[in-house]
Amino acid sequence: MSDLFGPSRRVVPVLVPVAIDTAYSYKVPRDMEVVPGSIVVVPLGPRKVIGVVWDEAPGGETVGDNRLREIEHVFPAPPLQESLRRFVDWVGGYYLMPRGMIVRMVVRSPEALEPEARIRGVRRAGPMPERQTEARKRVLELTQDGAGWSRSGLAASAAVSSSVIDGLIAQGTLEEVWLESGRAIDVPNPDFAPPTLNDEQQEAAVALRAATGERAFSVTLLDGVTGSGKTEVYFEAVAETLRQGRQAVILLPEIALTGEFLDRFAERFGSRPAEWHSQATPKARAQVWRGVTSGEVRAVVGARSALFLPFADLGLIVVDEEHDGAYKQDDGVHYHARDMGVVRARLGGFPVVLSSATPSIESRVNADQGRYRRLILEKRARGAELPDIEAIDLRRHLPARGKFLSPPLVAALRETLARGEQALLFLNRRGYAPLTLCRTCGHRFQCPECSTWLVEHRFRGILTCHHCGHTVRRPDHCPECGEVDSLIACGPGIERIAEEVAEAFPDAHRMILSSDLPGGVARMKEELAAVARGEADIVIGTQLVAKGHNFPKLTLVGVVDADLGLAHGDPRAAEKTFQLLQQVTGRAGRAARPTDGGTARPGGVAKGLLQTYAPTHPVIKAIVAGDREGFYTHEIEERRIIGLPPFGRLAGIVVSADEREPAQSLAHALARSAPAVERVTVLGPTEAPLAVIRGRHRFRLLVKTDRATDLQAYLKRWFAAAPSPRGSERISIDIDPQSFL
Ligand code: ADP
Ligand code: ZN
Repeated sequence: MSDLFGPSRRVVPVLVPVAIDTAYSYKVPRDMEVVPGSIVVVPLGPRKVIGVVWDEAPGGETVGDNRLREIEHVFPAPPLQESLRRFVDWVGGYYLMPRGMIVRMVVRSPEALEPEARIRGVRRAGPMPERQTEARKRVLELTQDGAGWSRSGLAASAAVSSSVIDGLIAQGTLEEVWLESGRAIDVPNPDFAPPTLNDEQQEAAVALRAATGERAFSVTLLDGVTGSGKTEVYFEAVAETLRQGRQAVILLPEIALTGEFLDRFAERFGSRPAEWHSQATPKARAQVWRGVTSGEVRAVVGARSALFLPFADLGLIVVDEEHDGAYKQDDGVHYHARDMGVVRARLGGFPVVLSSATPSIESRVNADQGRYRRLILEKRARGAELPDIEAIDLRRHLPARGKFLSPPLVAALRETLARGEQALLFLNRRGYAPLTLCRTCGHRFQCPECSTWLVEHRFRGILTCHHCGHTVRRPDHCPECGEVDSLIACGPGIERIAEEVAEAFPDAHRMILSSDLPGGVARMKEELAAVARGEADIVIGTQLVAKGHNFPKLTLVGVVDADLGLAHGDPRAAEKTFQLLQQVTGRAGRAARPTDGGTARPGGVAKGLLQTYAPTHPVIKAIVAGDREGFYTHEIEERRIIGLPPFGRLAGIVVSADEREPAQSLAHALARSAPAVERVTVLGPTEAPLAVIRGRHRFRLLVKTDRATDLQAYLKRWFAAAPSPRGSERISIDIDPQSFL
């Protein structure tokens, strides 16, 4: 038994992976050894669940000792470390989520908990068979070096039937053995191919290596323009961590699409890192989980959930594109992986690197106030110039009727094609048109389950809801008035832009990149690679294309609607638009010289064109002027004045129900029960902008405090005495909300 419990402690607290915050008490059977962190199986009601032995005064069940139930099994996997257990406590406390739900994210690869099933195999043992056949010869050749083979693998490779192998076993030529489990895990080599860094990168790399060398908590914001080589630089921190014999994790916002990234890692370190994301097979995930716990896996590249892996000796977290909204999980457990990355590093006592060309306002302010170190890369690594950005004022340069590309943008496309270069048209709207209506009766196609319009996808001949997936075939007559050929598409989606491009440039090779095209991730990866090889002349894409890809031939980026996103009631609208436009236009002209596979003319720079109705909007002006600092100064000042994050704190509360009335009255009752406290403002309730999703009616409250107030304590106090939901009613709390819909 562990000292923490003392020798006689036979009742321990166990956190179970359900929506419960308290650990339950369980008896430890006589012959069982558990310590805090042990992963166990316990009975819970009629079920058996995987739980984790915790290290605090047991709470919850108040039954007499003799009625306590027993732990049934302890897995051989190493116990969760102290710092990971404190991390689980912290995440639960911060987001007001039951810790059972957090612990579930740690142990959610149950097949990983047992050692990998071993396979019976064969290997060369001794004498040659008395009688040689062609089939036998092939088997003998393959097994010459004495390595173990699975029966089926050997039979397939030698093109023989399994009876040939049985015969050789009977002769004593082959023997049966247990095979080593799993594939050999690649060990990245920190000195495999060190890069030649430019001066600015070198300086940043030295600072990062030093931070890593301290083996202590620190946060470094790596703030460098698109194409400045941030990856090469933070790889040096990864290398240093590997030299220390510790593990590193790199978080990416769109891991499933980043085959290119894994190759880059392999070029630098000689082998690919382990991958962790939801698209991986359960078997592959189990292997990574196991390797991470044992310490054999030294580097993981993963989605936000990689943060909850039970590393044996984690020494570095890198959060790439740290500003990206994909780091916020908004279903199940609400959490922000960048923010929790910083927390995990603090609890574990190691450094974290946040990398971005467009840092979040939060991280910028933390750097400005000295809480984070900031390293700046001002130049593009390959000497390329940043693209020249211009606004196209749509009030003066109207697209033709029913079209969406203005004459100056069409002219720029033509010039780009004439030079044999690549262009990207960006519009953050999937499908053909965001709204379909009947020109005879005015009927609009709305989702029956959500308060949204159905989006037309013309290639597939459907109208679909982007919130719940409700889909109908596009009819040829209006369902309301029956008029035939009366339906019209309003507004553009990327399919419609592709159609316009096809009419204007029939000979150009077009490619659409969007997350919902048939073929899924595999096809998208292939298409992104094709674009990178220069195979498309004009790429039409959603924000999928904005994220970190390298397209060497790309020299023109046209943003079809730069105003999209500027006009909501979202306090981060300006920031998000700035980041997205900056990232998208940053795809252009990344390879300057023909030797880099780039085609930019000498002295010529790539171009970004923003179509806008608001050329004087501060965000548009800052991007056109290339005035990053100006944008940050302005935006930070605005936030300071109105007390928005990071100068104040927010919590979003969504009250929902199957009917409108109960949702509304619960929201009002909740608002009335809010304790009046200085420096805390409760706004609302108001009907949510997305008033109905999947048939659930939604109302929103917003809690706003200053930085010094303990927001969580306030919310706990409030909810302890507030009316609780009944029937279909639900209340969900979102700390540091990113979405206000
Ligand atoms: P960022 O992440 O800052 O946008 P990347 O790390 O993707 O930039 O680097 C952009 C490109 O420049 C990549 O193709 C990379 O291989 C290349 N690169 C980076 N640093 C150097 C360097 N010192 N010398 C040559 N090429 C470099
Ligand atoms: Zn819907």
